[in-house]
This record gives sequence, structure tokens and C-alpha cells, in this order.
Amino acid sequence: MGPEHEGLESMRITGVMISYYFICRTKLWLFAHNITLEREHENVRIGKEVHEVSYKREKKEVELPGMKMDFIRKGDVLEIHEVKKSRKMMAADRYQVIYYLSELRKRGVEAKAVINYPMIRETLHMNPTEDDFRRIEEIKREIKDIVSGPFPAPERKRICPKCAYYEFCFGGIE
Ligand code: SF4
Repeated sequence: MGPEHEGLESMRITGVMISYYFICRTKLWLFAHNITLEREHENVRIGKEVHEVSYKREKKEVELPGMKMDFIRKGDVLEIHEVKKSRKMMAADRYQVIYYLSELRKRGVEAKAVINYPMIRETLHMNPTEDDFRRIEEIKREIKDIVSGPFPAPERKRICPKCAYYEFCFGGIE
């Protein structure tokens, strides 16, 4: 059953949905309607392997509704880590992490966040502002509107051939 049948209030926003909001609205809609092809896709498999190999030793995971994060504790401060392959989806990565920080804050947990790019050996320390947290609330409302609306027609973009939904959207036609 799709989210439109469950009512907007009960729809659970996830970190992945925040990321897809920036990447592609069609992808966001398909994912939110449980049309999930990600598990089979080569890019997703590679992404998971980068994560597994790079952070095998220090990895600890914390799962909350809609969130799955790696974390380490530095003194009193929780530092959450998100591992990404490249910086191509910077806005998506950034707001996904700000969403995690926002959800933790609502639960009374102050945390810091770091995005790790092991393949290019870079680290991005996040310092979200109050405006960023307000933007997250707007994005969540916009996501609900998109998901409850009609299927957004696919628009071809540079990332499409690497997307798990490519055949679904374009039937593999170049
Ligand atoms: S193939 Fe392109 S249009 Fe279709 S969901 Fe993926 S990114 Fe969006």
C-alpha cells in the first residue's frame, strides 16, 4: 500500500528520502511508493563495499526510525558519520546528515556530523545553522507534497544511466 493511502501525517520521512529530494523527484516518488530496485544495482553494491572495507574496525551503527548512521563518541559529544563514494551529490549528502542531526536534536541529543569520502580521502565537518534546520522542516513538507502527488514524469539527467530506476524510467533506451 502506497503512502497516499496512509495519510500524509503518518508518512515516515527517511534520510534516504531527503537525499533523493535533491537528486530526483521521480526517484523520491518511486522509492516512497516502495518501488525499490536499489538492492540489485551495481552502484549501490559498490557504495556498500566502500563503506564496509573503509570502516570495518571503528564502525558502530545506530538506527532510529528513518535513520541508520555510523557513530563514534568523543567525550560527551556524539559524532555521526556518513560515508559516501564521491562529492557529486554534495547537497543531497549535506542535507541527509543535517536531517539526522535535526532528528537527534528533537530527541535531546546534541551531535556533530562528518561526511567521509574514503575513495578521495576527504572529510567534511558539518556545521549546520538554524536556517539549515528550518530548511529541513520545509524539505520534509515538500517531500510529503511530492509523494502524495501524481507520479513525476522522469526527466533525463546526467546521473540517470547510473540510477537503479533507469530501465524503469527509460526502458534502457539511450
Ligand atoms: S533514471 Fe533518472 S529520472 Fe529516473 S528515477 Fe533515476 S534519476 Fe530519476
